[in-house]
Amino acid sequence: MIPVKFDYLAPTSVEEALAALGEHGDDAKILAGGQSLLPVLRMRLNAPEVVIDLNGISSLRGIRDDGDAIVIGAMTTHHDVRDHELVKEHALLLAKAAAEVADSQIRHRGTFGGALAHADPAGDLGAPALALGAQFVVQGPGGSRTVEADDFFVDLFETAIGDDEILTEVRIPKHTGWGAHYEKFVRVAHQWPIVAVAVTVKGSIDEARVGLTNMGSTPLRARATEAALAGASATEDGVRAAAEQAAEGTNPPSDLNGAADYRQHLARVLTGRAVLKAAGAA
Ligand SMILES: Cc1cc2nc3c(=O)[nH]c(=O)nc-3n(C[C@H](O)[C@H](O)[C@H](O)COP(=O)(O)OP(=O)(O)OC[C@H]3O[C@@H](n4cnc5c(N)ncnc54)[C@H](O)[C@@H]3O)c2cc1C
Repeated sequence: MIPVKFDYLAPTSVEEALAALGEHGDDAKILAGGQSLLPVLRMRLNAPEVVIDLNGISSLRGIRDDGDAIVIGAMTTHHDVRDHELVKEHALLLAKAAAEVADSQIRHRGTFGGALAHADPAGDLGAPALALGAQFVVQGPGGSRTVEADDFFVDLFETAIGDDEILTEVRIPKHTGWGAHYEKFVRVAHQWPIVAVAVTVKGSIDEARVGLTNMGSTPLRARATEAALAGASATEDGVRAAAEQAAEGTNPPSDLNGAADYRQHLARVLTGRAVLKAAGAA
């Protein structure tokens, strides 16, 4: 289908984009890579009067070192996140998860910030960002503020970004030398996961961080499993016992791809696999 007619704005600075957002309010929609927005417009699930394209704002693109964190611009593509040396060195989990997003064409257009702002519970980047304790920098008319990962994902397709704000960059605390694995379960290649598990571990195992994809309306941490893994040795039996708690506190959907209890089973099995791979024990 053809989208409803809209005006197209192409600002070249964040300030210009914010001014346009302020002027048009609810009638406006931000465009990043368009890989989620354009299907929504074409299906006429949303009909903004104005589309504000961020692609002309070069300051929103790129990855830099900032001491104890790396900083990823919102308009950086999945392809660039996957391949960047700073990401591989300090946030390996993100590089591995970005490699699992859709297919090569979508990874070259879709953006890190767009995927996180879209907040699809089946999106591959929310759980790794949560597990790594990402900090989300959003800019609005009153300036910038930082939202901690635990507060960013509010509900299904809903984040802490205000209607008059833009996600500008994401700070990822360095996890240098941590092992990592993203275990994604799909029935069809290049698709959203039925369930996925994002794991990063320090040593074997001093500390573990486990994020769950598609196990509720937002990405979740498997905190009981994390607690059970802290200080544990990465033996198959020990890891699988800790992974038995991975579905605690989750509320996954039931749909054509699987019932909720099947997803909870998957979360336990995939967590065991992911932890063993992250710890280099599989
Ligand atoms: C066929 C197909 C398969 C896919 N498979 C997967 C998959 O396996 N895993 C996966 O994770 N994703 C998948 N995706 C989605 C893809 O990752 C998109 O890149 C992503 O969801 C949205 O990023 P985008 O840059 O394209 O954002 P857009 O589509 O441009 O925007 C998405 C939403 O976020 C808002 N937004 C964007 N940027 C900002 C910002 N900086 N500040 C505030 N709001 C903003 C927009 O207004 C819009 O509401 C798939 C998409 C397609 C079309």
